[in-house]
Amino acid sequence: MAEETTERIHVELVTPDKLVLREEVLAVSLPGREGYLGILPGHAPLLTELKPGQLSYTQGSLTHYLFVSGGFAEVQPHRVTVLVEASERPEEIDVERAKRAQQRAEERLRKAGGGEAEIDALRAQAALQRAMGRVEVAQRARQEQV
Ligand code: ATP
Repeated sequence: MAEETTERIHVELVTPDKLVLREEVLAVSLPGREGYLGILPGHAPLLTELKPGQLSYTQGSLTHYLFVSGGFAEVQPHRVTVLVEASERPEEIDVERAKRAQQRAEERLRKAGGGEAEIDALRAQAALQRAMGRVEVAQRARQEQV
């Protein structure tokens, strides 16, 4: 067989309300529970839970970034399917809203410190991760444009 020099991965990213991304890419990075996962063409199949954070993909010499909230990803050798609760491109992120969400979550965490409100604390922790992830993605994209 001819040598494959331009292997691609077909990536689809969906939320409950929209198809966010459907692209052929050279590489993908996913925010897995245990840390970021770098996926290249030919990767072994796996199913992983995602935490809120940054999903990036490379096309040509450009790397694009998106925020993804918690969900799941299925990796096949030439296909990655990502199902998440919410996702935004950097230009869609309202940074002030994310900062307000971060402050609310931090306040809730301070109040929930006692231990009896464990569920509230877990929820606040998740909201904090989403807010920080959004701010990070928005700021990173701004830095890359400079
Ligand atoms: P908030 O408390 O500000 O609503 P949240 O983390 O609870 O934040 P999500 O439940 O993750 O919000 O998302 C709900 C909807 O709002 C999704 O459609 C998501 O894309 C959108 N969204 C949330 N935060 C932002 C933001 N800072 N900028 C743009 N869209 C956002």
